[in-house]
Amino acid sequence: MRRVVSFHYTLTDPSARTLDTSAGGPPVTYLEGAGQIIDGLDEQLRTALAGAKTRVQVPAAKAYGEPDPSQVQRVKRTLLPVEGELKVGDIFQAGEDRHAPVVKIVAIEGDEVLLDANHPLAGVDLTFDVEVVAVRPATPEELRHGHAHDADGGGHCH
Ligand code: ZN
Repeated sequence: MRRVVSFHYTLTDPSARTLDTSAGGPPVTYLEGAGQIIDGLDEQLRTALAGAKTRVQVPAAKAYGEPDPSQVQRVKRTLLPVEGELKVGDIFQAGEDRHAPVVKIVAIEGDEVLLDANHPLAGVDLTFDVEVVAVRPATPEELRHGHAHDADGGGHCH
């Protein structure tokens, strides 16, 4: 039986810096095994019951993957769609299309810029402090759609 799980989480990196949290907002609701949350977290919550509080460690390979060196490219500064001063750490979209990859400037060398298109959390081992809020069986409709609907399973159409 595949389940729909709702949970709150706080995500920290290996230096205990908080990267993200659902506190103060609605819990995250997902269908197990549907790729709605990162694989490593999905796998480790398979036996969690409502009310469970647990710490889940997800190695980078099961989260956002290891950084891919081929995603770092050197380009002429004049080709960048950015006005004004550039500095290391700047993040922008590499194109007009809103689906264009987000890239980060990792170095500026003369009239060339080194751009990294890896996910910002690539190579980072993640720790999730999770509180499971609710667990229920997935509905047939959710199984057909391949994702969770509302936390209570009702009233959703698309
Ligand atoms: Zn749906």
